Order: sequence, then structure tokens, then C-alpha cells
Amino acid sequence: MADKAILFDATRCTGCRGCQVACKQWNELPAEKTTFFGGPGYQNPADVSFNTFTVLEFHRDGANDRDSDGNWHFLKFQCMHCTHASCVYNCNYLWGSTPEGAACTRDPESGMVWIDQTKCRGCAVCTHGDGTLHPCPFGVPRQNYPDQPPKTRKCIGCINRINSPYNLEPACVKSCNTDALVFGDRSTIVSLAQSRLAAALPKWPEANVYGDTGPYGGLHIISVLGKDPAFYRLPPKDADWSENWAQAPARSAPVQYAGLGDVLAGLIKATREA
Ligand code: SF4
Ligand code: SF4
Ligand code: SF4
Repeated sequence: MADKAILFDATRCTGCRGCQVACKQWNELPAEKTTFFGGPGYQNPADVSFNTFTVLEFHRDGANDRDSDGNWHFLKFQCMHCTHASCVYNCNYLWGSTPEGAACTRDPESGMVWIDQTKCRGCAVCTHGDGTLHPCPFGVPRQNYPDQPPKTRKCIGCINRINSPYNLEPACVKSCNTDALVFGDRSTIVSLAQSRLAAALPKWPEANVYGDTGPYGGLHIISVLGKDPAFYRLPPKDADWSENWAQAPARSAPVQYAGLGDVLAGLIKATREA
């Protein structure tokens, strides 16, 4: 099987969050009690978690309506399935020589990175690293603390679907009815991202492709972004500290601000412009 990838095209995403729901359903993840959250990103729930593997983030440029263009910029956030994945490195470093072996591994068929729950000890070195090992640069894997036994989970790239005899596409992709999500061979997805970018540029002058060549040796989530990666708090495209993880900055945790009125007004505008 060739290396696989998922395209996320922000210029076609309507923010419906069908992907978020489909992921919950396929992975049998329980609902979470949430509170209103605003910025950076106005999504709900605020972030990925042990029970939420993907979140459709809502970003608005400008701190308030006066200095914003009033548009919403969507990002489907989950594990990016890095080619140079610190989580795989760290888990293997700590547990690779034990009889059970490392829990966090790359699927040799598809290139997706997944955590074998039967082997995971919940040590969190994939998430946070330690003095020498660097954390996941996207801050993705999450623990179930204080539940027992301690475990860590994240998006598994739906390897149980794509490696099945039925060759199913990932559940999130299946749910997307605007073709903002597309699954296929990685080389095909990269080409598709480039052609989507060319088509989007007249209306989205800051659009760019993220994950094709970098960061971290290239990702298996290839995104057509409407804005610069920094706008979404993503590492720069040329980021790759796989030779020296200690220098890599991590994606900061979201903080709260803004009011419900802003969000509703923006949602109405985004819906009208979709
Ligand atoms: S985003 Fe984080 S958890 Fe996902 S493959 Fe990369 S390093 Fe691992
Ligand atoms: S929490 Fe699990 S997947 Fe992460 S490093 Fe520890 S054993 Fe590996
Ligand atoms: S690939 Fe599967 S596990 Fe990952 S976000 Fe999509 S539905 Fe969820």
C-alpha cells in the first residue's frame, strides 16, 4: 500500500463539524461536558482530548470585530501524522526494548501514527517528552488521568478502516459533503492540494499548502490553509527538529476570551459567505 494522506481544504470547509461527530461515532468516544470557549479559536469543545480526537477550530483574525475582516477561518485539528514523529521516537526510546514493546508506532501500510491501547502505559512522554525528549510539537496525545489504568489516546488515522478488507476511507472524510476532506495516496493528495491552492488564490490571496514538504519531514494531513500557519498557532512550514528535538517550540494551549455575541455574529457571516 502506498503512503496515505488526508486533505483538509479550508477554502471548502463550511465549519459544519460533521467530521467531528463522525470521529466520535466511529471511535465510540463519549460526549464531553463543555462550557463556552472563545479564543484563540472559538470551537466547542475547546481542544482535542482523550475523548475527542479531532476538533474543527474556528479562528477569526483581529482581537475584536473592529480590526477583523469578519471572516472565520477553519482548521481541522488532530494528530498530523508527522513523518518525523517525536511521539514514535519517544515511546520507542522508553519502551522499545521491553517485552511488550512501544505502544506508539507508525503503520507501515499507510504511514499513519497510532497508539496500541493494549501496550500504552499512559506515561505521557509522547505528549510532554522529558528533560531530553521533546514533546509532540502539535500538543496532540492526551491522557485519561486520574482514571486507571493510565492511558493516552489520539487520532489513529482510522487505520482500522483504511486497512480493512473494505478499504474504507477515514470516518471524518466519509462525512464531509463539500470535499473539504479527501483521502488517498499521499502523492495524489499533495497534487490535489496544489491544484486546490491555485484555484483558491484569486479569492484567498494568503492561501498556502501546509504539510506537503514540512514541517517534521512532511505530514499525513495535508492542509490548504486560508492564512499563514502562524495564524492558527501551527509551527512554521520549515520546522523540523528531528535532529535536535530539544530546540523545538510546542504549540501553546488555547486561552479563553471574547463573548458569545461575537461568535454568533461571525457564524452567521461565515454561513452566508460559504
Ligand atoms: S502530531 Fe504529535 S502525536 Fe501526531 S504524529 Fe506528530 S508528534 Fe506524533
Ligand atoms: S503514554 Fe503510551 S504511547 Fe505515550 S509514550 Fe507512554 S506508553 Fe507510549
Ligand atoms: S482519521 Fe479517524 S480517528 Fe482521525 S480524526 Fe478522522 S475519524 Fe477521527
